[in-house]
Amino acid sequence: MKKILIKTFGIFICLLFVVLASIAQERKGDPALTENWTPEPKVIAPGKTASEAPADAIVLFNGRDANAWVDKDNQPIKWKVADGALTVTSGAGTIFTKEAFGDCQLHIEWRTPSEVKGNGQGRGNSGIFLMGQYELQVLDSYNNRTYSNGQAASIYKQTMPLVNASRGPGEWQTYDIVFTAPRFKEDSSLQSPARITVLHNGILVQNNTVLWGGTQYIGLPAYVKHKDREPLSLQDHSNPVSFRNIWIRRL
Ligand code: MG
Repeated sequence: MKKILIKTFGIFICLLFVVLASIAQERKGDPALTENWTPEPKVIAPGKTASEAPADAIVLFNGRDANAWVDKDNQPIKWKVADGALTVTSGAGTIFTKEAFGDCQLHIEWRTPSEVKGNGQGRGNSGIFLMGQYELQVLDSYNNRTYSNGQAASIYKQTMPLVNASRGPGEWQTYDIVFTAPRFKEDSSLQSPARITVLHNGILVQNNTVLWGGTQYIGLPAYVKHKDREPLSLQDHSNPVSFRNIWIRRL
């Protein structure tokens, strides 16, 4: 019995040595070689909720005034501001931010009318045009079939969303967007295409999607050289779609 115990103890000691030796082997070398300390990522106070504007965001609509926006003639917009929301006034036209943006993170909340009218593309249609060119579709896509690359969260007439994360009509919905602007060469040809990642109501719907060019209603998308920064625009598609809590961070 004693012999067996001594033997077992011996094996245990041997195993312990093997384990310690392999740990020592792994720790060889300087771990600091793979530590990056500069630059230090800037500390940004997050909002109390994920949708509240963080400290370094540019607030484009705070629920009270639409001063960040102009119409196509560079005049104050005629969309309705009421009850903390900015609502499309049919015929008042697409609106544009006064400031121009390139690479950005954008948060925007939108709501299609609770009273359901029309169908397909005619129900709760609006759109968010990054750089005034690239439309992320806004549509009531709750039990409202249309072409997949034209439903809510599609890159219009290009890429359908990964899933339909739509809430019902009259409910507030969120888009969280990460956009990389296209780059153009001196000779106006494309250097690198635009890319977009979108969370719709917190759900990934566009995953680093490559854009094929400016979104078109008819015909194929194509890139036409534009500035590094362009205004963001919201579409008047004649439906009274509302927006709120719009903020953007330059990247
Ligand atoms: Mg649209």
